[in-house]
Amino acid sequence: IHPEPPCAPTTPSGDRLQLGPSFLHFTESYGKNCFSGAVAKKYLLEAGLSDGMELKVFQETALLEQHKDTVAKAVMKWAIDNGASIYTHWFQPLSSELVRSGLTGQVHNAMFRPGPNGVEWVFKGETMIQGETDGSSYNNGGLRRTHTAAAYTVIDPSSPMFIRDDTVYIPTVFVAFTGEALDEKTPLLRSMQAVSREAVKLLGSLGHKATSVVPNIGLEQEFFLVPREAYFKRPDLQLCGRTVMGKSAPRGQEMCDHYMSQPNEKALACMREIQHECFKLGIPLQTRHREVAPNQYECAPFFGLATGQIDNNLLVMTISEEVAARHGMAALFAEKPFKGINGSGKHNNWSLGTDTGLNLLNAKQVSEKCTDADAFAVIMAAMIQALDTYGDLMRAATAVPGNDFRLGACEAPPAIVSTYLGKALTDFLDSFKKGEKVEPYKAASVERTFCGSVPSAQIPSEDRNRTSPFPYGGHRFEFRAVGSSQNVSMTNTILCSITAHAFAEFNAKIEKGEKPADVARAALEKHWRIIFNGNGYGEDWPKEAESRGLWNLPSCVDAVARLADPKNVALFESLKDATGKPVMTKSEMESRVIVLHEQYVNVVEMEALTMIDMIQQHVLPSALLTEKAGIEMPAKAPISALKSSVADIKSKLEAMHKAAPAPATDKEGAAKESVEMQVAKAKAMLARELRLETMERARDVCDAIEAIVPANLWTLSTYNDLLFLD
Ligand code: ADP
Ligand code: MG
Repeated sequence: IHPEPPCAPTTPSGDRLQLGPSFLHFTESYGKNCFSGAVAKKYLLEAGLSDGMELKVFQETALLEQHKDTVAKAVMKWAIDNGASIYTHWFQPLSSELVRSGLTGQVHNAMFRPGPNGVEWVFKGETMIQGETDGSSYNNGGLRRTHTAAAYTVIDPSSPMFIRDDTVYIPTVFVAFTGEALDEKTPLLRSMQAVSREAVKLLGSLGHKATSVVPNIGLEQEFFLVPREAYFKRPDLQLCGRTVMGKSAPRGQEMCDHYMSQPNEKALACMREIQHECFKLGIPLQTRHREVAPNQYECAPFFGLATGQIDNNLLVMTISEEVAARHGMAALFAEKPFKGINGSGKHNNWSLGTDTGLNLLNAKQVSEKCTDADAFAVIMAAMIQALDTYGDLMRAATAVPGNDFRLGACEAPPAIVSTYLGKALTDFLDSFKKGEKVEPYKAASVERTFCGSVPSAQIPSEDRNRTSPFPYGGHRFEFRAVGSSQNVSMTNTILCSITAHAFAEFNAKIEKGEKPADVARAALEKHWRIIFNGNGYGEDWPKEAESRGLWNLPSCVDAVARLADPKNVALFESLKDATGKPVMTKSEMESRVIVLHEQYVNVVEMEALTMIDMIQQHVLPSALLTEKAGIEMPAKAPISALKSSVADIKSKLEAMHKAAPAPATDKEGAAKESVEMQVAKAKAMLARELRLETMERARDVCDAIEAIVPANLWTLSTYNDLLFLD
């Protein structure tokens, strides 16, 4: 049975799950296609597992191995009862196209075979737990060669199995013959064990005994729903997920008439079906609303264990794409599908919870459950140290190609890493740092009245700051810089790892006899600069951040490269899971850097080739017909400018393919990076130039022409067509 989030939910109402009245009828089938909770218990007991064991079997791997055949028997019965006869191991390969989001790997196998008396059902424990797949075509950044390509899938018991249509999906890791991680999940699972160990130890020093600590996350997912017909008249959206040209619509988001307004009827029907599909799978998709940009929406689940939530999020993206198609729409998950209006993010709300029901980021719970009165200040100090020491990794945690257009565009946080704590918490930590006597911090709420005829309300004493990439929100941090299309495994691997590292450093000092409060004070003194409560969109902030020495990495390519920096490789190598395996080895880390750079190059190449096609097959013919009709081309965009734009893009592409960098060398003249890494990075840097400079110039020409071409001669769908369902 999939463990409940050990940390007690901290919603104001304290409810585990709230469904709107319109879904009450639906709650009967809630979770029926997810092998957890009461559903799993029933089948596991029927299959012969003893009462109580059903809880432990997915929490202790030794028990799962011991009872694997009984569990498989239960899963098979559940499958048959729900019309499934196929199973697949379901994994998250490193290589991701970022066009269709939520990319996962799966190979479907029958759970039966023909026998003398009809079909015979076969689904063994062994098959459930482990599979072999070669999957050697995935990018792997040099971890595998095609002649040494064996790879395996192994069940991840922390994320429940589920049924979609006729298939049982078994969430698994995807690892090489050598044991190296070829996927997104494995490093996350390792980092979760690392942070658990260090957090338990730190809590021990602060006077609270816990056995395990897990990251809990809640992912707010933003996306666009656009009319499908218009979508199919946009090769760029279809192939690349974002528009590479398109004149702005006369109406955008200026009126703020979309944000949280009544959803368009078609979109609402679509969102409702998305939710219903999710409810069957036990995905508690609680919230839905309209976002700032026209045709932009958001949904969010009730938070839970990071691995399960990430798997759920991948499903939410896939389901949204499928359901949108059924409703005559297309769901877009790219970070910036349209120029000139807001892009989409995926706020990664994050906290740490113990098996004893304590949320480490909840001041009230910490002061109630830890005997050390300074416990909350100590935990916060460690978080601040983690963020400041690894600001570059925090930026790398959000490094996807689409975020290059979103971060720093005054619609999402800047690419500068800092944290907002709010005035009260900042003042509290400041006094604590100075050694003044302070009462334990309580995230106080105040009673406010607004109008005689409405009830007074208890509201948090802290305001919110939407311009911060990583604000503290009372009982969680909200990583707002994360991109909408991301598989957030790496994001959370980084959060767990940097936190584990800071906790480990605190632990080491405490073990040597230092007092936790003194360790915390020193950390706050040193890392205070990472706290920024001001306006992250402000013009002076980049300068101020620079003078503070904070990381500002606007380029995804530079941010990705930071992953392989020796300081960061050392971090991942030093943190170990329960079996002593590092979160990531140097070669695992480097393979990721190569894959991410190659992926960036592939994305840009696809965009560039699509743009060339669109110019040649659409814009140019339309422009020629327009000119023939006697309409003059804009001065800055003559027909010749279209032709030279195509030539420029082609020559940049060629240069990108030929990139051969001078190796970065150390003092002794030895190459610091492998040739493969150097080449991948050099190509990615040229790709970025092509994308942000050459293609943007070409876009200006296309958009100027679009402005004067008569509607009947324009063959691509326009921003008007795409952005207004109503
Ligand atoms: P907003 O950020 O827009 O105010 P909500 O308050 O609804 O949104 O929260 C957004 C997400 O944060 C939800 O998925 C919610 O379940 C999740 N969340 C709330 N508390 C925590 C927590 N302690 N740890 C992790 N996620 C949390
Ligand atoms: Mg939010």
